[in-house]
Amino acid sequence: MKACVHVGAGVLELRDWPAPSAGPGELLLRVRGCGLCGSDIAKLVGDRVTAPAVLGHEVVGEVLEAGAGVPRFAPGDRVVVAHHVPCFHCHYCRRGSPSMCRSFQRSNLDPGGFAERVRVPAPNVAHAAFAIPPGMPDETASFTEPLACCLRAVKRCGTAAGDTVLVVGLGSVGCLLVQGFRLAGATVLATDLLAERRRLGLAAGARVPEREAELDGALRAATEGRGADAVVLTAGGPAALPWARARVRDGGTLHYFAGGAGEALPLSLESLYHHELTLSATYSASPVELAEAFELLLRGAVTVDGLVTHRLPLARLAEGVELVKRQQAVKVYVTP
Ligand SMILES: [Zn+2]
Ligand SMILES: [Zn+2]
Repeated sequence: MKACVHVGAGVLELRDWPAPSAGPGELLLRVRGCGLCGSDIAKLVGDRVTAPAVLGHEVVGEVLEAGAGVPRFAPGDRVVVAHHVPCFHCHYCRRGSPSMCRSFQRSNLDPGGFAERVRVPAPNVAHAAFAIPPGMPDETASFTEPLACCLRAVKRCGTAAGDTVLVVGLGSVGCLLVQGFRLAGATVLATDLLAERRRLGLAAGARVPEREAELDGALRAATEGRGADAVVLTAGGPAALPWARARVRDGGTLHYFAGGAGEALPLSLESLYHHELTLSATYSASPVELAEAFELLLRGAVTVDGLVTHRLPLARLAEGVELVKRQQAVKVYVTP
């Protein structure tokens, strides 16, 4: 079969790849589509993944084969699947850190969503696969995993009704976070440097002032001058942390969702201590949030309208990566 292979040094090539088959408890999917995630791009440019590798984990497919002992799915079913599943019983899992579970980090789809076919291992079939009913578009279902990551961030910020949250960056993840925080009862302000993304944030339900001075005024007005209960960074990297710190209330949370790596924190310990700030992060999501995310997308409680800006065939994945890097695409959806 064909797969778009990361061959090293950030290079993608359409290559032949051994076709997988389904064992007991497993599914073999014909990939219908796969979303391109910011973390795929981080893997392409970073050194955490050993080449050759096939990336892609926001996978929608059609069941070609269901292995023995898979009663929930049958050939022909459309499904959305995610790549990582925890063991549910180790110390990390029992303490609310499922994405730090060693089984979680070892689990994966075979080979990945940027291929014609994918094998879904048995734990993923049991806990991270959802049958897509007629009427739910593939692209909507493909947001299950990214939305799940956002829902986990909402929980980790401890957001409650009446909170005010500031979301920085209105790419696809920023727009999903806006909706997740609103569902938790928060008032959401948001910002992005790009005007078309500010429009997306507005459509997602955030208050999105045009200029920074207006944003600060709106934040003060919404919080009696306190600042946001949580500031969530999806863009800007560590350099945005001092800006975020100036807009979080005493006792509030700075949540580093994404935005790039950094060696040192540009925040003084004094400000963390005397203002009792929490600096948090979330890596990935658990099957609990995957199920919640799928349900919210199915009910239309979270919408993804306008987020997929580019649809590309597998052979043009590299082009999609460039579009995202240049911020010309919001979400790229790849179809074999
Ligand atoms: Zn993702
Ligand atoms: Zn575990």
